Amino acid sequence: MAIRILPPQLANQIAAGEVVERPASVVKELVENSLDAGATRVDIDIEKGGAKLIRIQDNGGGIAKDELALALSRHATSKLGSIDDLEAILSFGFRGEALASISSVSRLTLTSKTAEQTEAWLAYAEGSEMAVKVMPAAHPQGTTIEVADLFFNTPARRRFLKSDKTEFTHIDEWLKRIAIARPEIHLTLKHNGKQVRNYRPAHTESQLLQRLTQVCGRAFAEQAVSVSCEHDGLRLTGYLQSPMQQDLVDAHYFYVNGRHVRDRLVTHAVKQAFAGQTEVEQPGYVLMLQLDPHQVDVNVHPAKHEVRFHEARMVHDFVLQGLSSALEQCWSLSVDQQVV
Ligand code: ADP
Ligand code: MG
Repeated sequence: MAIRILPPQLANQIAAGEVVERPASVVKELVENSLDAGATRVDIDIEKGGAKLIRIQDNGGGIAKDELALALSRHATSKLGSIDDLEAILSFGFRGEALASISSVSRLTLTSKTAEQTEAWLAYAEGSEMAVKVMPAAHPQGTTIEVADLFFNTPARRRFLKSDKTEFTHIDEWLKRIAIARPEIHLTLKHNGKQVRNYRPAHTESQLLQRLTQVCGRAFAEQAVSVSCEHDGLRLTGYLQSPMQQDLVDAHYFYVNGRHVRDRLVTHAVKQAFAGQTEVEQPGYVLMLQLDPHQVDVNVHPAKHEVRFHEARMVHDFVLQGLSSALEQCWSLSVDQQVV
């Protein structure tokens, strides 16, 4: 076969293979875009586990009419200007791949209104050249993205989808991660027209406790040990399961600069900190690590589930130290209570 450039839709579908695994990955990319756009409220509507419809509405900054087409094309991003920016990325997105990828494997419409515009506009991409059509629409300030019939044109991927219930559970689990990291955001989630979650914005101590309870359960939230420490530009905050509590809790959340990541560093540090102090196999934790973005590389995996610390050893020791002293404090408090 002669060498030729792939048509845009095919190139986008290939890229979609990396970021769009299932409905939950679509929800993840779209909600992250909403948060990057400064939204304070995001409403998520799912039909049939997301295979039929995923609709995300936000009240963020919106996309200007003349940028709608650009937003749908590949490598189009407003978040990265140069390779130097990549060294210190703080937004969720930066690859400019999500919308192009998702729209190449679904029927995607994008409706948006910026504060400066008096009317809203709707855009969708059509055909293998992904020509974008734009027309007037009704919408308050912000953006709604509708993704219908995910994988309708990639049957092999469509067959990989599990039951509606399983796919919805993945979406729900993913939303919990955001709900914990961004308590100030109002998030709602519906499945087949029925409201399943309503995470109200949390600002006060008691609202924060309520958010923690909604996501991690009462048992964890009511007895959790607070973690808070800082050293040399590193900051660790969050909660640990009380070592006096023997329940199995399903709360294992770790964030680096606000981004949820899976990292062995934290599971290892938690295990070490709890050594000999609990019978529980995997004590629950909600931990947020803040550090200079230059000290961590998020560009390891297209879906950004993993990060690489430049000084992993130092970060590990700092986390372990923070957890150990939180646990020590918790034990000494409980001794005080017994004395009284
Ligand atoms: P990335 O997030 O990596 O920049 P995306 O394909 O996810 O790439 O989005 C492309 C661009 O479209 C973003 O950089 C942003 O400017 C715009 N955009 C996408 N979603 C929204 C939204 N909900 N609100 C405002 N702008 C958005
Ligand atoms: Mg994005």
